[in-house]
Amino acid sequence: MCDTKYFKVLVEEIHSTTVATIGTDGHPQTRVIDMMLYDENGVYFLTAKGKAFYDQLMDQQYIAVSATKDKKAVSLRGKIKNIGYEKLDEIFEKNTYMQKIYPNDTRAALQVFQLYEAQGEFFDISDPSNIVRESIVIGNVEVVKTGYFVGEECIGCKLCYSVCPQKCIDTTKKPVEIDQNHCLHCGRCAETCPKQTIKKVG
Ligand code: SF4
Ligand code: SF4
Repeated sequence: MCDTKYFKVLVEEIHSTTVATIGTDGHPQTRVIDMMLYDENGVYFLTAKGKAFYDQLMDQQYIAVSATKDKKAVSLRGKIKNIGYEKLDEIFEKNTYMQKIYPNDTRAALQVFQLYEAQGEFFDISDPSNIVRESIVIGNVEVVKTGYFVGEECIGCKLCYSVCPQKCIDTTKKPVEIDQNHCLHCGRCAETCPKQTIKKVG
């Protein structure tokens, strides 16, 4: 299960992303990695076998990716696997600058990795007073729900709405309902609720 429209943003609009792994010292490490290809099975990138990054990928089989451009952002975390030289030529055809970085047969130093099971978010703040947040899922990952949710004790006082920067709480219902696609996760509603019935999840 996945929605390739977000992969298109990641690969074609943003392209250069920040990828995090854990270093041998146990601390997070990031570096800029180009996302080269996508299909319905995930997103593809590559690295050279001689790099410490390669060793970390092989060892951890997991990454976190974040990228942003023009006030749109994509963040993903999930499982990766080495697919060797599969898709390497296709990557070089679609990303012709790679032919200059690794000319002729030197591309043999590279291995392709697939992000195949992940979850994350698309975030768009190009209209600041109406932000958009959407979930992204790759593969059969069990989705962990995150955000703020209103409980049954809600009395409909609307105080949460009055302090919400995005006014993304539907007060025509009781319990009132937070529109998850426009919520900033700022927590103001939960702090304000007299019944303490807005809970942070995840
Ligand atoms: S502040 Fe709490 S009780 Fe009041 S409407 Fe919001 S969720 Fe319901
Ligand atoms: S967390 Fe912030 S943005 Fe989201 S509903 Fe509550 S007040 Fe509004």
